[in-house]
Amino acid sequence: MVVETPEHNIDDISDLPTDQIEYVLNLIIDKVREESGKDYAHYFLWFRNKGREIGVSLTHPHSQVYVLPFTPSRVERELESSREYFNNHGRCLFCDILNAELKDSVRLIYSNDYWVSFMPFYSHWPFEVHIYPRRHVQLITELTRDEVRGLAETLKVSLCGLTHVFSKSMPYVLVLHQAPLKGYYPYYHLHIEVYGILRDEDKVKYAAGMETGGGNFTYDSVPEENAQRIRDSVIRNCTHNNR
Ligand SMILES: [Zn+2]
Ligand SMILES: [Zn+2]
Repeated sequence: MVVETPEHNIDDISDLPTDQIEYVLNLIIDKVREESGKDYAHYFLWFRNKGREIGVSLTHPHSQVYVLPFTPSRVERELESSREYFNNHGRCLFCDILNAELKDSVRLIYSNDYWVSFMPFYSHWPFEVHIYPRRHVQLITELTRDEVRGLAETLKVSLCGLTHVFSKSMPYVLVLHQAPLKGYYPYYHLHIEVYGILRDEDKVKYAAGMETGGGNFTYDSVPEENAQRIRDSVIRNCTHNNR
């Protein structure tokens, strides 16, 4: 459990000052370093569940860390796909996705010198935001101080926009996808994925028959339009007090 602030009455991590978000990120980075040397530690999964709809009972701002003796299956699949892509094309799959999103630009949410956040063209959830470092890195411990600062800023703006799309605060799951702690994965590219689960005011998108039962997600909207709604929300709610 990572307690992100001593203040209880805060809705989201994006309500914290950028300095405090940076402090939380550095806590995570220190913990990854500490766990890396341990035999059982194969994977470090940092995630954040927000909102009662996700099943969160503890409302104090917090995130969680699981140190696992295996690689989570979603990351395993990304590792396999990016290795195959690298072998076939000689380039990083994630760098190519990032360049395609920058070129298309219609699904971008926010960017600075070090990070880009966007709603990917292959979104599963109604309001999905992915955050990529511009630099090709595998582990959060490889980020420079400026990159950590840039990530704090990117999280603040992107999550502020996401949580305020509707009048009700958006419930979401945030997860860090990085390389396993053991082994060598030069073809992988760390990133953060955020799944906002409301599809409309008070309408939750459930992973139901098709998704859980069939294993394929249906998308009820258009990513370009929903990215625009997050950008509008950023302008409405997140351009003041951005410190
Ligand atoms: Zn890359
Ligand atoms: Zn991922």
